[in-house]
Amino acid sequence: GATIGILGGGQLGRMIAMAAAQLGYSCHIYAPEEESVAAEVSARFTCAEWDDHAALSAFARDCAVVTYEFENVPVEAVNVIPSQLRAPGTRALEIAQDRLTEKRFVEELGGRPAPFAPVDDETGLADAVAQIGAPGILKTRRDGYDGKGQWRIASAQDAAALQLPGPGLIYEGLVKFEAEFSVILVRGLDGEVRFWDSAQNVHESGILATSSLPAASIAGEQVAEARKLAYRVAEALAYVGVLTLEFFATPDGPVFNEMAPRVHNSGHWTIEGAVTSQFENHVRAILGLPLGDTSTMWPTIQMTNLIGEIEGGINRLLSDTRNHVHLYGKSEARPGRKMGHVTKLG
Ligand code: ATP
Ligand code: MG
Ligand code: MG
Repeated sequence: GATIGILGGGQLGRMIAMAAAQLGYSCHIYAPEEESVAAEVSARFTCAEWDDHAALSAFARDCAVVTYEFENVPVEAVNVIPSQLRAPGTRALEIAQDRLTEKRFVEELGGRPAPFAPVDDETGLADAVAQIGAPGILKTRRDGYDGKGQWRIASAQDAAALQLPGPGLIYEGLVKFEAEFSVILVRGLDGEVRFWDSAQNVHESGILATSSLPAASIAGEQVAEARKLAYRVAEALAYVGVLTLEFFATPDGPVFNEMAPRVHNSGHWTIEGAVTSQFENHVRAILGLPLGDTSTMWPTIQMTNLIGEIEGGINRLLSDTRNHVHLYGKSEARPGRKMGHVTKLG
């Protein structure tokens, strides 16, 4: 079969490659890091920098389609790949790479983010806090993930005492949410859209800890409205593949947090918990194949991330027969590093 190119070498790429293998496709990973857990399960690996245009061109020539497992791939690198090979397109990446652009884009489509203001210096932060109020969160517009590049601000005094890392920031009001949930959809080459059920997500220290189904009723009631927005985003971008939007469920309805133009950690439960996983449907979508059924197969499901050293070792996890254990094969268990996940069914 054809070769699928994946930009980025982490666990999301690994799980895309495993789904691709089941359908008889092989993957070619392109990533700057030598240790790639995606490359370990793929036929080919180009380890090169994002600005190595010769390496990118050679990679593209090997691939029938090129996708992303990481949204912060520099757009200049993506632009070296012929546009007809890219799935999803570059516009989705450009928007999702900048929290300010992303929030404005979603607002134009009728979505409601937390109140926000761009911040570039100390005066700008003081103005933003005066306008929006505290508590709030200051975030870098670009490159943040797993809660990195974020500062909680409790008061104007707090803001005044903060040493800013530089320009390119955004200040957001702190949303008093009752639950967090994500909408994950897949859009095919022909425009067909399917949604998975929305899991309720719990974060600890800015990192996803668990995704559970069914979600609490408040989140469940807001899924329909959140899906409408996600659908409009996918349509506006002529999106192909899996797309994720994160939301806060509040008494006033769903508040948009951020989007990811890719498969998502909160959808890992779909591997065993849905008829077709997010990874398989992403592969099907980008290849123009018929999409699979996204229905949930179990009454209750909980996905727990394995972060850092695995407490009690993996035997403890394997000895529960309801558990499906996934380890990503990372060599070093640093604190805060996602080492694997466990999905408990029923
Ligand atoms: P990811 O790994 O999902 O890409 P990230 O680093 O981009 O994460 P966010 O999703 O912006 O970070 O924030 C991480 C978590 O911090 C959120 O899921 C939520 O729990 C909390 N959080 C972020 N922004 C807000 C906000 N404005 N109000 C309340 N909580 C927030
Ligand atoms: Mg993010
Ligand atoms: Mg997030």
